[in-house]
Amino acid sequence: MLERLCALTGAEIRFEPLDLRNREALEALLAEARVDAVVHFAGLKAVGESVEKPLLYYENNVGGTIALLQAMAAHGVRSLVFSSSATVYGDPERLPIPEDHALRPTNPYGKSKLMIEHLLADHAASDPAFRYAALRYFNPIGAHPSGRIGEDPRGIPNNLLPFVAQVAVGKLPALKVFGNDYATSDGTGVRDYIHVMDLARGHVAALDYLSRKKHSITCNLGAGRGYSVLEVVKAFERASGRKVPLEFAARRAGDVAASYADPSLAAARLGWKAALDIDAMCRDVWRWQSQNPHGY
Ligand code: UDP
Repeated sequence: MLERLCALTGAEIRFEPLDLRNREALEALLAEARVDAVVHFAGLKAVGESVEKPLLYYENNVGGTIALLQAMAAHGVRSLVFSSSATVYGDPERLPIPEDHALRPTNPYGKSKLMIEHLLADHAASDPAFRYAALRYFNPIGAHPSGRIGEDPRGIPNNLLPFVAQVAVGKLPALKVFGNDYATSDGTGVRDYIHVMDLARGHVAALDYLSRKKHSITCNLGAGRGYSVLEVVKAFERASGRKVPLEFAARRAGDVAASYADPSLAAARLGWKAALDIDAMCRDVWRWQSQNPHGY
């Protein structure tokens, strides 16, 4: 499939695992390849772990981005799409959340994303030819519709969807629903889930924007509506035809009741909107999980 994609697009696709903090390897790669733009997804992303190991998060996420920006500058690469996160908003003061909402992340992971947004803004101010798109992801879930690419977390999953999928496939006994006394329709937490295929299209739209508009943008990538944990479980049961046993547990530290995006800026500027609904997200997660019960 990759070969076909390369042939169709004329693009060169290579996989080379590289630690961004390894400046030498990064420089060597940029010296050798002809790079027009960088899409920077790399980073540690577990909120709980970031509280336990803040220095690791700052070193890896912030340090890695500094090394990347320096190497890009040295090789004349001046467009970057960055994976930011809705965590930069912290506890929402209003819903849906627009981009000009207060930025008060409550953990080192979210703070590392916000620091990187600041870095990007300062770097762009110092170099008028550099431009970036910082994309604040809400809750990406789903898998490639082929069932060949999906989420395979190490150990017990932290996030809702991989956990639910592993319960449905029989790897885990029951879902623990963290809190059923929130001020939401059914008492469980509400989030803005977005299909990874929509998210991928958002990056293509951002690259296109950077090449057309020549200036930077920071915007939400979300569907603009929320689903409760129980609604997600119901959708997953419909998609999989399996029962997902659950039990109610205490709230998880640091969780907010509800979070969903105002996605209008991405629609207006990037011409991007999430198109796939919760049923498509669950169907694709289930295809991946049922075809790959033991992961990769
Ligand atoms: N959640 C849950 N049980 C789990 C994992 C998550 O009830 O095992 C809830 C969590 O409290 C939140 C929602 O599912 O309301 C989404 O959590 P997730 O960790 O996937 O994403 P977050 O919004 O925290 O980034």
